[in-house]
Amino acid sequence: MRKITAVALSLLLVLSGLAMTGCSGKDKGISFKAGTYQAESQGIGGMVPVTVEFSDTEILSITVGENHETKGISDPALTRIPADIVKGQTLNVDTVSGASVSSNAVISAVIACIEQAGGDVEALKARPAVVQTAGEDIEKSADVIIIGAGGAGLAAALSAGTNGSSVIVIEKGASIGGNTIRSGGGYNAVDPVRQAAIDMEPSQITELKSILDVDPASIDADFSGTLEELQGQIREYLKGDTSVLFDSVALHTYQSYKSGKRTGLDGSEIHGTYELLNTVTSQSLAALEWVASYDDETDIRDDVSTVLGGLWPRMHSLTTSVGHGFISPLEKSATKFGAEIMLETKAVELIMRDGKVSGVLAVKPDGTKVTLTANKGVVMATGGYGANPELAMEYDNYWACLTPDMPTTNTALATGDGIIMGREAGADLVGMGYIQLMPSSHPVSGSLGGGVWGSADDQVFVNKEGKRFVSEYESRDVLSKAALEQTDGMFWIIGDQISSGDPQLGGQNYWGNSIDELLKDKSIYRAETLEDLAVQFGADPETLVAEIEKYNSFCENGVDEDFGKVRLGKKIEDGPFWATPRKPSIHHTMGGLRIDSDARVLDTDGNPIPGFYAAGEVTGGIHAGNRVGGNAIPDIMVFGRIAGASAAAEL
Ligand code: ADP
Repeated sequence: MRKITAVALSLLLVLSGLAMTGCSGKDKGISFKAGTYQAESQGIGGMVPVTVEFSDTEILSITVGENHETKGISDPALTRIPADIVKGQTLNVDTVSGASVSSNAVISAVIACIEQAGGDVEALKARPAVVQTAGEDIEKSADVIIIGAGGAGLAAALSAGTNGSSVIVIEKGASIGGNTIRSGGGYNAVDPVRQAAIDMEPSQITELKSILDVDPASIDADFSGTLEELQGQIREYLKGDTSVLFDSVALHTYQSYKSGKRTGLDGSEIHGTYELLNTVTSQSLAALEWVASYDDETDIRDDVSTVLGGLWPRMHSLTTSVGHGFISPLEKSATKFGAEIMLETKAVELIMRDGKVSGVLAVKPDGTKVTLTANKGVVMATGGYGANPELAMEYDNYWACLTPDMPTTNTALATGDGIIMGREAGADLVGMGYIQLMPSSHPVSGSLGGGVWGSADDQVFVNKEGKRFVSEYESRDVLSKAALEQTDGMFWIIGDQISSGDPQLGGQNYWGNSIDELLKDKSIYRAETLEDLAVQFGADPETLVAEIEKYNSFCENGVDEDFGKVRLGKKIEDGPFWATPRKPSIHHTMGGLRIDSDARVLDTDGNPIPGFYAAGEVTGGIHAGNRVGGNAIPDIMVFGRIAGASAAAEL
């Protein structure tokens, strides 16, 4: 039997207590073979084990055992679902929004136990759900009301709090974190100190030289000054030691502009707004240090690498991996400065008074009405609409291949509520037609995790035929387009032990998923030789070996003769070898509320709407047609921090 954690044990006691007061199954003819039964079911991070205790007529207790479900996201599913089942003696329970995979894992495992105990599953499903009744109306006020407790909302809460304002944050989900906590936590920042350890590859020098050939008059006027500045920096750099990586805010801005400048299906062009993009690139390191400075347990890691589609080695991360590393310190510090976070409180409408946004109407899942008055301002931080494929398809001006059932990396909570509420309050929308597909997503769940790989330069992609098909260092839209053209729209990331991030049997990947479970469900493959690896995932062994040998020769010569990869990284040579199957899924929505560089929301005439601020994925105009990988969290932190300060100052 698996080890049952202390938390699980205390849960068992609580639920046993609940069962005593819950409605009895006897009345409805429900019966069981009394005893304790165990079963497990697939969750987001492996199997979720459940132990259920039955009397002849009741489900007495449900205990969830040790598992690898996502910290901070899955917890409400692992506690609330068992509690509802026991309390109502029913399988008519709602999944926890934002944690549906974990919820379903618990429900499925409980069903398996009920079957073992000879219970009638269909009868239990037909029983009434636990009745929710609306509580008394809630009315509260604070200087700053923030809608959404993801990365931007919590950054705004900390910022407003440290600027002396009282803060209430409302969050629709049962847990905080939004898409930010589900992200890889990769954070681009130009950082001369940490980047000093990175070498410059020959193909990166070629890339810099190609920038010297661009005529500043040929690009959008707002960015020509940045290009001229960058060209001066490159000329200076090429005169000196070119063994150490070149980077600058001008290069970061220029790459983000170039990568975001795209032509839509309707022929219209889009590019990032200079003031917004430059605000992100010039303040990103300071914002990262700001987040880390408030929490003793949070530090910036020294190693810097490239996230997929990040284009240059400037990706930082915090000591706790993935997006949790940002959410945890922000929550701790924002609440330390007095912010109140109200969970399961969904904003439905902005309150307008004399043309000013002065509060929010919200609702609890049981129907309780919540009215919040903002003395100073409201910050919209509700994230994007990646989990609202209908809205994405309605606006799509880039892909024309989105479908309602397309998987997404997003939390189910990312439905674009803030964009709709903002539009009703008169806000202008910008760039709504541009949706980022994450090329490298789990082929079944669509999630970011569930695989093994290292820095983007170390990754090699092959298709089902075992052939490379693209420069793996390209932008995400280019990678996604290339992937969708391959057989089954799929590819495999190939790496050796080190370039795959050094995964260990019995250990966990960067996302906290169990390596053994991932191998078991074929989310990843491992073999001592490349030939065996190819056989496992169905490619031709000779083709794969020849392709990797060719790639290794490119690494030695410093030039990718097939696809012009800008940074080639490590050779793939020392086994064991790993393969991770991947497929594009909806990831980030670049469009949203138009803001200025003070994070004020602008109306359709370009004027700030009084009392209304926004930050994070709910905004548009920054990343334009394609977001550079690793630029989202800097945007969230920089503009979250600005929005909180602007609201506190009543700009
Ligand atoms: P960002 O950090 O870019 O703002 P996230 O996705 O990390 O984006 O966070 C957005 C948060 O906003 C999520 O936690 C989501 O549940 C929350 N949210 C979305 N819509 C609402 C709403 N109507 N009311 C309250 N919270 C919301």
